[in-house]
Amino acid sequence: MRSPSAGAPCVTHPPADALTDPQSIKGFLDPEEGAALVRYAVATAGLGPFLEIGGYCGKSALYLGTAAKAAGTRLFSIDHHRGSEEHQPGEEYFDPELYDEVAGAVDTLPAFRRNIYAAGLEPWVIAMVGKSADIAAYWSTPLGFVFIDGGHSMTAAQADYDGWAMKVAPGGILAIHDVFPNPEDGGRPPYEIWKQAVASKQYEPVERIRTLEVLRRL
Ligand code: SAH
Ligand code: MG
Repeated sequence: MRSPSAGAPCVTHPPADALTDPQSIKGFLDPEEGAALVRYAVATAGLGPFLEIGGYCGKSALYLGTAAKAAGTRLFSIDHHRGSEEHQPGEEYFDPELYDEVAGAVDTLPAFRRNIYAAGLEPWVIAMVGKSADIAAYWSTPLGFVFIDGGHSMTAAQADYDGWAMKVAPGGILAIHDVFPNPEDGGRPPYEIWKQAVASKQYEPVERIRTLEVLRRL
């Protein structure tokens, strides 16, 4: 199905002055990495929908939502929207603008929704609010493109790999963010799951763009 469902009341009309630059919103994705996400995702057209783990405020979703629109599919964006370890109060990437005083917790969902609306991408981006592993347990649709950009603990990264890597269709793409082969540059868990993907013989490494590793499902 190429066009969004007609008349669905939950999907707004795009704003006249649509937000077009994903780099103008909060988030953690280099423009070259974003461009690579779009390039590889669009090339999987026909293999299945796209899915990301780690929506945050919608930066990568703006890139991948644009790609989904071009490919005639949808982006499912997973996030519990309570932030990773480094986003919590007192941690390095805590942002007081993303804190819900009533809940006493980080909440990035309002910003995510605002940004997807502003970009005119609501028909193509479907937010799934929950933990990656919980959603993976109920998911069986083969995916054309999966982007892992969630928690950076070994437990979180492993759960993302275990939950999603084998749900990519043959010929589809798995992209992993924040991969640092040199331990001096950053944490190891994303690199560890990249190594597992290569060792599984189910994937071939395709390209590295800054900290983004791209693999193709065999
Ligand atoms: N892709 C985003 C950045 C993601 S930051 C961008 O382009 O800017 C990582 C996100 O992963 C955080 O918002 C955090 O809430 C989410 N996250 C961490 N662990 C998770 C888990 N187990 N399930 C779902 N989301 C998780
Ligand atoms: Mg990241």
